Amino acid sequence: MSPILIIDAGHGGIDPGGGNNAQFTEKDMNLKISLYQYRRFQELNIPVAITRTTDITLTAEARTAKVRESGARYCISNHINSGGGRGSEAIYSIYSTPTFSRIIAEELKAAGMPNRRIFTRTLPNNPKLDYYYMHRETGSVETVIVEYGFADNAQDANKLASDWERLAEAVVRAFCIYAKQNYRPPSPPPPEPKPTPGPTKPENGGGQPVPEWKHEAINWLYEQGFLTDEIWRQQMDQPLPLWAEALIIKRLYEKLSQQEK
Ligand SMILES: [Zn+2]
Repeated sequence: MSPILIIDAGHGGIDPGGGNNAQFTEKDMNLKISLYQYRRFQELNIPVAITRTTDITLTAEARTAKVRESGARYCISNHINSGGGRGSEAIYSIYSTPTFSRIIAEELKAAGMPNRRIFTRTLPNNPKLDYYYMHRETGSVETVIVEYGFADNAQDANKLASDWERLAEAVVRAFCIYAKQNYRPPSPPPPEPKPTPGPTKPENGGGQPVPEWKHEAINWLYEQGFLTDEIWRQQMDQPLPLWAEALIIKRLYEKLSQQEK
């Protein structure tokens, strides 16, 4: 079955993108958001494709060919902004309407990211052509470029680093509203960012205080980015499901292979 939607994780491989800071690179944040949405649309039984699932380089030609040839009607192209600004932006084609972009802006705002603007842009020398190739070269696919926030704005950057899942989910919801698809929130919902629990907080699922050395070990996994969901901190003495163990090993592997480059 052809997908209805294709998700584009912007940049990748040798192209890190411009939305980088000390906490993240744009290409990795785009990929995390995109993989999250890809999994969510699958959960919602919405036929979905994606331009990349790993840190590979895609030329503009290869990327737009994937979108054009996907058979999808819609494309969400995920990006992180930079250059001095605050808030999200959604950019639509001159041959489209602002409706989807407006819904995205509203949902991101409801998830805690204000909107800076939604807009279209043409080539300076040709007002009949879109400025961005993701609009210009993707044929009849309705593509919206989503800039989730500014990597060089401290508020946006912290929001993205700590709460990117909620922002990714906001766009899943926006799509369901726009394309009239059934939406169900994720279960459990993405956790609210919360402070690290104290060293003997008795919420480990066993009713006993957790010794500090256990906290140190678990906290290290979070600091290194191997664990991201706060739920694990609340159940320190419970076994991890196999998929979570696999995820930790995969993240470790990716980190090690990054260091080799
Ligand atoms: Zn970008």
